[in-house]
Amino acid sequence: MNQLERIHLSSPHMSGREQKYVQEAFDTNWVAPLGKNVDEFERETAAYAGVKAAAAVSSGTAAIHLALKLIGVEEGDTVFCSSLTFVASANPVLYQKAKIVFIDSELDSWNMCPQALKKALQEADKGGCLPKALIVVNLYGQCAKMSEIMALCETYGVKVIEDAAESLGSIDDNRMSGSFGHFGVYSFNGNKIITTSGGGMLISNDEEAIEKARFYATQSRDPAAHYQHSQTGYNYRMSNVLAGIGRGQLEVLEERVARRREIYQAYEDAFRAIDFITMMPERPNTRHNRWLTTLTLPSGADVAVVEILKSLAEQNIEARHVWKPLHLQPLFSDRLFVSAQRENVSHAEQLFNHGLCLPSGSNLTEEELGRVIEAVLNVAVAKSM
Ligand SMILES: *Cc1c(COP(=O)(O)O)cnc(C)c1O
Repeated sequence: MNQLERIHLSSPHMSGREQKYVQEAFDTNWVAPLGKNVDEFERETAAYAGVKAAAAVSSGTAAIHLALKLIGVEEGDTVFCSSLTFVASANPVLYQKAKIVFIDSELDSWNMCPQALKKALQEADKGGCLPKALIVVNLYGQCAKMSEIMALCETYGVKVIEDAAESLGSIDDNRMSGSFGHFGVYSFNGNKIITTSGGGMLISNDEEAIEKARFYATQSRDPAAHYQHSQTGYNYRMSNVLAGIGRGQLEVLEERVARRREIYQAYEDAFRAIDFITMMPERPNTRHNRWLTTLTLPSGADVAVVEILKSLAEQNIEARHVWKPLHLQPLFSDRLFVSAQRENVSHAEQLFNHGLCLPSGSNLTEEELGRVIEAVLNVAVAKSM
């Protein structure tokens, strides 16, 4: 039998508009270093997000690192971070040699639990070890309860980095995801909702801070006729060619959000009758960009996550477990964790144990979508016989 065509979780989806901007960079020989595409991509992204300024960088990870630098996080400082996330959210804290405390999720949003955060802040305050910064993630595109989280952080004077790497295009109460924190971070990695093949953006209403980010990102070169440096710098800027891809992608972002939501809806409709599947909820008054369609199989269900993943793999379909919580990763095994509940199993671990992500790329064809749905339904049918 012929191998079935591979269906990816989330692959790059070019619009055709990228070429014009890339060509412009070639025609003017602004292939490197910076140039018009970078300036315009920053301006356009800031305008989309509704913030004053943006700095285009080489990755979302770099953007988080720069935000920590700007906040002044150093060795010995503490940073709070969502536990249920991709490792890139927390790696930059290790670069700065700061301590991390991971915060549990809540089940209605899968994001940082404001109650667990409150508890962690109260305890830290008592112990005289308040964090300098907090990294909050908008998981799989779902907006975290940013208003509550910001209010708590204002009370304790903690600066907030909003990791919106997965939530570009999501909206909470008419505000764009990423624009709530003191700093917001987007990623244009190949698997994200739009891509520059690799890249990221740091956004903020603090224009001075963004200017400083550009300084750090270009080797912290002091203003002098010769090369002079008085601070550690980084080579973190985005190239003008890649910014051209980003400009073309940004023009179709709304279409990409619409298509991902449509894909989510197709899954939800197809699985409605299956009682052991629960779709990831969407918070009221928000637009979830549905970067990845994710669902859970309640504990005690007849079907386990691994069974579905195995069945999909046999059909050459890429599907994944939900992120493994960072407080359970060997890399962070000695780090503190604040749970949202008293039971042994945290919400983050519960979501990891029972959750999975389905192919959700905006370039999925109806036929491919049908294949994924059928593969999941087949497991359900086999179980009910
Ligand atoms: C992708 C991602 C990042 C990092 O982005 P890169 O551009 O790959 O460095 C950070 N946080 C989360 C939650 C992500 O999904």
